Amino acid sequence: MNNNQSQNMFPTQAQVVIIGGGVIGASVAYHLTKLGWQDVVLLERTNLTAGTTWHAAGLIVSGGFGTETTINMAKYTRELYTRLEEETGQDTGFRQIGYLEVASNAERVEGLRRQADFARGYGIDVEQISPAEIKELWPLMHTDDLLAGFFNPLDGRANPVDTTMALAKGARMGGVQIMEETKVTGILKDKGRVTGVVTNKGEIAAEYVVNCCGIWAREVGKMAGVNVPLHAAEHYYLVTEPIKGVHADMPIVEDPELYLYLREETGGLMVGMFEPVSGPWGMDGIPEDFSFGEIPPDWDRLMPYLEKAMDRIPIAKEAGVHMLFCGPESFTPDMSPMIGEAPELRNFYVAAGFNSLGILLGGGVGQIIAQWIVDGYPPVDISEINIERMSPFRNNPKYLYDRTVEMLGWQYAEGWPNLHFESARGVRKSPFHDRFAELGAWFGESDGWEIADWFAPQGVEPTVEYSWKRQNWFEYNAAEHKAAREGVILMDLTPMSKFLIQGRDAEKVLNRICARDVNVEIGRCVYTTWLNERGTIQADLTVTRLAQDQYQVVSSWSIHTNVLTWLKRHVPPDAHLTITDVTSAYSLINIQGPKSRQLLSKLTSADMSNQAFPYLTLQEIDIGYAPVKALRITYLGELGWELYVPSEFSLHVYDSLVETGKELGLKHAGLQALDTLRLEKAYRDYGHDIDNLDTPLEVGLGFTVEPDKPADFIGKEAFLKQKESGILKKRLVQFLLEDPEPLLHGGEPIYRDGARVGDIHAGNYGHTLGGAVGLGPIKFKGGVTKEYIQNGNFEIEVVGIRYPAKASLRPMLDPKNERVRC
Ligand SMILES: Cc1cc2nc3c(=O)[nH]c(=O)nc-3n(C[C@H](O)[C@H](O)[C@H](O)COP(=O)(O)OP(=O)(O)OC[C@H]3O[C@@H](n4cnc5c(N)ncnc54)[C@H](O)[C@@H]3O)c2cc1C
Repeated sequence: MNNNQSQNMFPTQAQVVIIGGGVIGASVAYHLTKLGWQDVVLLERTNLTAGTTWHAAGLIVSGGFGTETTINMAKYTRELYTRLEEETGQDTGFRQIGYLEVASNAERVEGLRRQADFARGYGIDVEQISPAEIKELWPLMHTDDLLAGFFNPLDGRANPVDTTMALAKGARMGGVQIMEETKVTGILKDKGRVTGVVTNKGEIAAEYVVNCCGIWAREVGKMAGVNVPLHAAEHYYLVTEPIKGVHADMPIVEDPELYLYLREETGGLMVGMFEPVSGPWGMDGIPEDFSFGEIPPDWDRLMPYLEKAMDRIPIAKEAGVHMLFCGPESFTPDMSPMIGEAPELRNFYVAAGFNSLGILLGGGVGQIIAQWIVDGYPPVDISEINIERMSPFRNNPKYLYDRTVEMLGWQYAEGWPNLHFESARGVRKSPFHDRFAELGAWFGESDGWEIADWFAPQGVEPTVEYSWKRQNWFEYNAAEHKAAREGVILMDLTPMSKFLIQGRDAEKVLNRICARDVNVEIGRCVYTTWLNERGTIQADLTVTRLAQDQYQVVSSWSIHTNVLTWLKRHVPPDAHLTITDVTSAYSLINIQGPKSRQLLSKLTSADMSNQAFPYLTLQEIDIGYAPVKALRITYLGELGWELYVPSEFSLHVYDSLVETGKELGLKHAGLQALDTLRLEKAYRDYGHDIDNLDTPLEVGLGFTVEPDKPADFIGKEAFLKQKESGILKKRLVQFLLEDPEPLLHGGEPIYRDGARVGDIHAGNYGHTLGGAVGLGPIKFKGGVTKEYIQNGNFEIEVVGIRYPAKASLRPMLDPKNERVRC
């Protein structure tokens, strides 16, 4: 059978079925063939590119991202689009005409400068230029109010349709069968694993299915019982009639203050908008015949933004309007794409929710998904993009609708430190929320939870004045920090994920998953990592033995689904074991600081002394009238306890603590304090400073692995192999700036003896250490040793200035844990 015949015959089975023939589906197909997988079918309900891809503006920019993963995706995509024509014979229309982002206020200049400094470390060549140089590049631009521009000559524009066709052609050349006019109407599954798809032409059995359905991905996810929380929004661009002086080689321009992007289009200008209040679209269902579709433009809504935007190119106001285009694009509730294997269904992958960046990330996304399917592991740090981060409530239509109003504008929002979404708030509240609000808490939002970030002093309105410099709450945070180090604080950590594991096989199953031995006496708490077969970290968490056959597992809320999924997937079918998510059953009050023992002793009949209640143990104690599980542990480096309080007793316990705490100067502290305190102690935060590519040895968590424990555990072999090799080419290091003034927010380049060796992953202010403190991995082929750290002169670059920094593999604050174990 020749290739054409096989392309036309309806397949009944395939190793991989990809649903969706936009840029993403085509890219996944193409990249699977590059890894030698040919038994691949791509299904498209109408025609290739007919969804969102056909009308994209095709801006291909590679800077402007805050993580290594996204920068590398964009950079790889750009490189791929330059060489696809040579390989496939199909032009992508990619022209490297350059990309210019302009800034008209000092804070924006600083934000872009920070981005550029970070991006340069990953080979993205961005140069800061003056308004005069901007004028030279773009003579038609009004530059009087501009302070600077950031120019990347290698970026440019592609033709999204041609690019997708080139990827599809490359995929076909590699053996992929592409079926147009083939709509998937159902997903087949068996025992928690996908087994195929149902289409309007029949069924196809498949080992893997990939949902690349753009704005339809939520609906296709539903067919599989998989949450894909995204929502379409209107996205506009206007094209003017030809303008004298406009030509195809002018760099594309973005002016985020005016929500504007610009490029040449048939001799005129394409003026695209990312307005701050957008129009969600299609929640009641996308019309069945929507193919190469457009949305009727709402001129009235858009006109005020467009008029303002045109101030940047005054001549555009005089040109006639050739067309105003509006098309739908999907947005996720946190502005990051959703990529990877769905937690609900094995071998069902998702690549959707690109928030207007699908063309410029498309190559990288296809490469990651293909590698992930073939290897069974993601090839990159997935903290920011993993679909597992999405809690199920985020798929609620009202939540998605309300959040989407804000999302389009986020594309150009200033990425301030500690910026939070303003829409769809108040979703999840701990029992203490209203008490905290009365006390002047400023709340941030994380996974729907309203979490106190800091407390304003009495009489001060809790509002944020955003800045790259010290924000208005800096001193409030300093006071909370000081109280934790010198007195006693109360902090609400109710969102922490809490799981109860019960049954005869609880110990056996957990001991296979945990890298440390959890066959410990009742009441003992074990801080452990969970490793995969490659020996990299899946999670770090605490496991406390509550009874012979009962454990409490507690992790950060940001990895809730990851932990639950990993756990469920490693319970043998015949194991005697139940897993209960008890997150909502208990509040979690954190009482920390040198006076915490004194405070708790006043409220309980239990003996809280060091002898009776040692570090890393749990006891059921009484507080007032309530039964409380008290765990002696700290994530901020002080004597302290976590109190797990049954929800209905929570306010009673809280009020008792506050009343009694008055005489000891008990202070409320927020999440900012947790961060400033934990960074001084160099405690790790999975998903921020450590991730799925790190091994325990590389990030200083070797102590969370016990290779000699009696039970065999996942990742042991890989751990031992790295340990025996005796060389660590990458290690997480703690840094402290010697100058107390500059701030670290993450992303700042690290230099050793003048050479760039890494960047800060998490940074904040160490009020006790007296300067900005950060954690960042540094790399050295010869091995990062204690001597390598001690013998080097370290500097951290903050907005173009390199500041001397102390570097240490051990925590700079209390390295011997004396404050914790007293
Ligand atoms: C006005 C506008 C301008 C943009 N400009 C840019 C830009 O400059 N740069 C950039 O990077 N991005 C841009 N984007 C975003 C970009 O277009 C998208 O992120 C990207 O096209 C998404 O590609 P996709 O393959 O995920 O989705 P789509 O292109 O929508 O493909 C999904 C496909 O799935 C098919 N499908 C759905 N359901 C089924 C089913 N049940 N069975 C079979 N097939 C199904 C659909 O028919 C569709 O063809 C822009 C978007 C808009 C709206």
